[in-house]
Amino acid sequence: MATRAVETYPRELAMAGPPGAKDRSSTRRANQSLILNLLHTEGGRSRARIAADTGLPKATVTNLIAELMEGGLVREGGAEREGAVGRPGQVVELDGRSLCGVGVEINVDYVSLIALDLPGDVVAQRRLAVDVAGVPAEQVLDTVGELVAATMEELAAAGVRTIGVTLAAPGVIDPVRGVVTYASNIGWREVPAVAGLRRRLGRAAPEIHLENDAKLGAIAEFVTTDTPGVRDLVYLTGATGVGAGIIAGGNLLRGNSGFAGEVGHLPLGDPEQQCPCGRRGCWETAVGLAALLRLAADRYDPVHDPSVDVEQRLGELRRRAEAGDARTLAALDALARALSSGVALLVDVLNPRLLVLGGHFAVFGTYLVDAIRDDVRDTVIAPDAGGCELVPSVLGFTAPARGGAYLALDAVYQDPIAIMQLA
Ligand SMILES: [Zn+2]
Repeated sequence: MATRAVETYPRELAMAGPPGAKDRSSTRRANQSLILNLLHTEGGRSRARIAADTGLPKATVTNLIAELMEGGLVREGGAEREGAVGRPGQVVELDGRSLCGVGVEINVDYVSLIALDLPGDVVAQRRLAVDVAGVPAEQVLDTVGELVAATMEELAAAGVRTIGVTLAAPGVIDPVRGVVTYASNIGWREVPAVAGLRRRLGRAAPEIHLENDAKLGAIAEFVTTDTPGVRDLVYLTGATGVGAGIIAGGNLLRGNSGFAGEVGHLPLGDPEQQCPCGRRGCWETAVGLAALLRLAADRYDPVHDPSVDVEQRLGELRRRAEAGDARTLAALDALARALSSGVALLVDVLNPRLLVLGGHFAVFGTYLVDAIRDDVRDTVIAPDAGGCELVPSVLGFTAPARGGAYLALDAVYQDPIAIMQLA
């Protein structure tokens, strides 16, 4: 499968290799990375075509492919057909089925994990209903540690090695220190999540990184979208908190101190509503999951039960909407109106090609998207909303964890040798 690569940020985050080796081995590393990236983004091809596409000598390509093959990162495919002159070459394609990247999303009501192999197929997936805001951070990290350790063990038994884990948190994070700086919805401040998980995994710990959930969701949508030519994308998380992940010109936008995309606290909500951030009238108090549930059902309705998986509860609301339940439809209508104003603002500021509605917004896809699309088209200054297409996420609640798994796998493309040496 040909996918796209997103430029994330501090390169050192993704570099798993030993620093300082600036000799022949660093050239080899760069060339292997070049070949692997080519196969990743453009698909499988013969050694002759790889040599032509990379500008490397054919003999060098042959040697590098042999090493990558021994490391399980590429494999022989079928014979090359189209456009080959003379004897058709054997196609070399991406393999990497014996390694995986893991993404773990920590959110208000749940902890969810997804493991992807190098071609991007799901090799493990779990979600636990956890009252993250109601228990100490240490206890949540215990749960995350157990979940990751059990998954890694199970995968190892099936011959799949975990090369990295990315934690996704719903708030502002410091990726370099691995600290959740401020996540108002789960009550975390200065929580050293990466160190905490590393300690719990002990000697088995792979590379561990931390990123904001909306930014990882944006990466997942960017990597998997079918829309051709997308360089500018906005992903809106739909959960208790609402945030945007922004990819501008193919680059993930972090801003000066990581706050880029914290749109949930724009003053677009009811000025009387209290937000966990301490202010009133934040957008997420009007469009977040809690607002939808409050509008759609009375306090003792089972859709409010945090011990039931969030997708199950939202599935119930969707069934009510499909059955024409007046209260549910009115709640969705109010949600669409409250969403429109912020979406139009994002489209005006960022002029994205795609704006993806994630989480609970995606569950109600057609009900919300159709209503918002017309509103946005009428409001945005650019003709035809600047070419922006509004779509519900097909990844749903898995997008942030998926983005985390992709980010963990990025280490393979940055430095294939280091990953192979770890085997
Ligand atoms: Zn707020």
